[in-house]
Amino acid sequence: MAHDPHALRALLGEDAELCHRAITGEHGVSLPPFTDHHVHLHLFDETRLAAGGIAGAVDLGGDPVALARRENHGIPRVAYAGAFLTAPGGYPVGRSWAPGEITREISDPSAHPGVPGGAATAVDEQASFGASVIKVALNSTAGPVLDSETLSAVVAVARERGLAVIAHAEGERMPRLAFDAGVSGFAHAPFSEYVGRAFLARSAAAGHVWISTLAIHRGDEEAAEFARVNLAGFAAAGGRVLYGTDLGNGEQPVGVNADEVTALDRAGVRGPALIRAMSDPWPHAEPPSGVRTFVPGPPPHHADEVAGWLRGATVVPTEELVHDDH
Ligand SMILES: [Zn+2]
Repeated sequence: MAHDPHALRALLGEDAELCHRAITGEHGVSLPPFTDHHVHLHLFDETRLAAGGIAGAVDLGGDPVALARRENHGIPRVAYAGAFLTAPGGYPVGRSWAPGEITREISDPSAHPGVPGGAATAVDEQASFGASVIKVALNSTAGPVLDSETLSAVVAVARERGLAVIAHAEGERMPRLAFDAGVSGFAHAPFSEYVGRAFLARSAAAGHVWISTLAIHRGDEEAAEFARVNLAGFAAAGGRVLYGTDLGNGEQPVGVNADEVTALDRAGVRGPALIRAMSDPWPHAEPPSGVRTFVPGPPPHHADEVAGWLRGATVVPTEELVHDDH
């Protein structure tokens, strides 16, 4: 029975605790605070995230100026990439949701600062506006993509700045192009092809992060299956999976997305591994401080119940929670 603290931890990880809220007396489970590792803040109301169980968010494509100026609410804690770096005319240039402020077209592989259209210029600009990661878009199904020389220059300059480079890799061989240039991970579990066992093993061994976004492929069964199988293989190879929804893209609940949680579960990321993917502080080293994700009501008894149960998640101040374990 999961009401036993030991069974609860076996199901939800070592940091799960039975507790109640000091003010309301409401009983439930306290979990480390969750982060959605792939969102676009300009497309939804971030102040609603905490009520939906999300304490941290990583913006993977927005206007760096607006992101640098945004009001700091404390929670959600926000990290961001700034603009999408892409090839001239490449994805997502021209998309209705992608105004010019959120893309930078790189036409020169120069690693020298201040070169117009240069690789270093684009990375430096994002860094100067407070970016913690760099996002590159490689979508061969929607226009030109950066060549490997330019992509490698982006990665080299980002690495000098201590910034991870995360790729949107769409189209055949795009994950390989990103991998060979030395990126740190993928904004979406690769969904255009099966990447293969050797790729999965090397990606896991390289310490890559894979942001899941499995549920956005609803309506495209082939892409959904590629993403699920690739992510399952990556997780099985010991890879670091991060929960992410691409929130802002299409109709999605603002908060924990039960469809994404269910899809992760079906990809074999369940139990403690699921909670780890949701509470990984990446790209920070430490979780958002002063808060926990709290799920009211009776705890789940079985891994099959976890995804549905997490729909009730909310974020509460740690000081409001009283442990019931002792
Ligand atoms: Zn996105």
